[in-house]
Amino acid sequence: MRGTQSAGGVVPSDGDRITGEQKAAIEETFGRHVNRGQVRYLKAGHLDVLESRRQGIRFVDPVTGRQMIDCFTSAGCFNVGRHNPVVVAALEEALDSLDMGSAALTSTHQVALADKLAEIAPGDLSRVLFAAGGGDAVDGAIKLARAATGRTGIVSTVKAYHGHTGFALSANGKPHYRHYFEPLMPAFSFVPFNDLEAMRQVVGDHTAAILVEPVQGEAGIFPGERAYLEVLRSLCDERGALLVFDEVQTGFGRTGKMFACEHVGVVPDIMTVAKALGGGLFPNAAILYRDVEPMRSFVESNPNFHRSMVGGSDVGCRVSLRVIEYIEQEDLCGNAARMGGKLRAALEQLMGENPKIIRAVRGIGMMVGIEYIHEFLGPMMSDALAKRGVFAAYSGNAPQVMRFMLPITANTEEVDEVIAAIRGAIADMRRLLPLALPAAKLPFGLRLLNDERVQTSLFGAFRKVEDMFGGKER
Ligand code: PMP
Repeated sequence: MRGTQSAGGVVPSDGDRITGEQKAAIEETFGRHVNRGQVRYLKAGHLDVLESRRQGIRFVDPVTGRQMIDCFTSAGCFNVGRHNPVVVAALEEALDSLDMGSAALTSTHQVALADKLAEIAPGDLSRVLFAAGGGDAVDGAIKLARAATGRTGIVSTVKAYHGHTGFALSANGKPHYRHYFEPLMPAFSFVPFNDLEAMRQVVGDHTAAILVEPVQGEAGIFPGERAYLEVLRSLCDERGALLVFDEVQTGFGRTGKMFACEHVGVVPDIMTVAKALGGGLFPNAAILYRDVEPMRSFVESNPNFHRSMVGGSDVGCRVSLRVIEYIEQEDLCGNAARMGGKLRAALEQLMGENPKIIRAVRGIGMMVGIEYIHEFLGPMMSDALAKRGVFAAYSGNAPQVMRFMLPITANTEEVDEVIAAIRGAIADMRRLLPLALPAAKLPFGLRLLNDERVQTSLFGAFRKVEDMFGGKER
């Protein structure tokens, strides 16, 4: 076996088959150096899969040789598919002559990408600042809004997710992410998403920016209503605040248009992009903003106000440029709209057939979510799907909502395969429901079932029994 020697033994190179014992050694080392809880959690949900042979919408479990379909895509990183050969070729070609480049100097590769981003961005979002990742881009956007307006207030939305960096973390709309680190940045407030009245009440002459995801992702796939996003625009104009759209998850074709805000024709003052921009191969992120005062003058006179040594690297910019060209050439936006529509229609049918399991189906393009009746059904379904070769995760801020965010390269047959697996997983789950649903009727039972630690212990115990009776090679 090829591979590198590590403290945990041989780490196989991609494509090699490995034995259950080798995998156990890798997990033990992962637990020792990274996180034991994560290993337990993944194992309980049948997601203890090492990814190999990544290609298109799939990767292969190197222990069982079984293919898995990636419906999670790290929440929108793999829009162009796993290990896309066209993007890999661009990366290889870039590596022939380039490295990251000096962050302080002017770069032709940054120029080419900035030019392309300005071309595809909605409205007059023609100016670009590069960033290291999604959270870093949101931090930069908030800094720009505060500096340009001279105001401090940032209005975010309940259950929003904007990243784990300082300003972005302060804007996360679920206390769970924030409470260990309080006090965070002052002057952040939260209002329910799609609720105009609540927004009108908090936006005032102290507000620097309204920050929203045009389609809330981690909150459980909630598309912003047209009237809502339009009024946010006029509210900002009336009250001298800036409108910031976080398109880190929705950008680059995910929703069936290059950017989600194009569905409603609302142009923000600042827009953050990341994830899919790197093609799932080389991270990159950017803050796009309108070429207007006072943002322009502020950035011109403070060119270093937000800087990353790694974001906007030369290699990264070459890769990102190829990713965008590929999305355009292959009409992946159109494909996301068509395939996402097909998936949503099938899920709506499943909802009609399973009213005791599915409460709602929501989404736009290939950003689709199923909301289950109870929170614990999310992890149960993720487990049932994993056993059928589908990797699907529930939303970070809403465990009752499972996301289906396949690569937007998926074709009809592949979407049909996912639909068949979902149908099968629901049938599998129905067998356990006579036990779980009566317990969920009692308030204590429901609390217990919805508790992540209880789920991990329960599924972990099932998994141990299963392994004892022959499932060891998983
Ligand atoms: N904003 C949104 C809308 C996101 O979905 C995410 C990641 N889930 C982020 C920001 C943070 O991005 P990153 O993990 O690259 O910092």
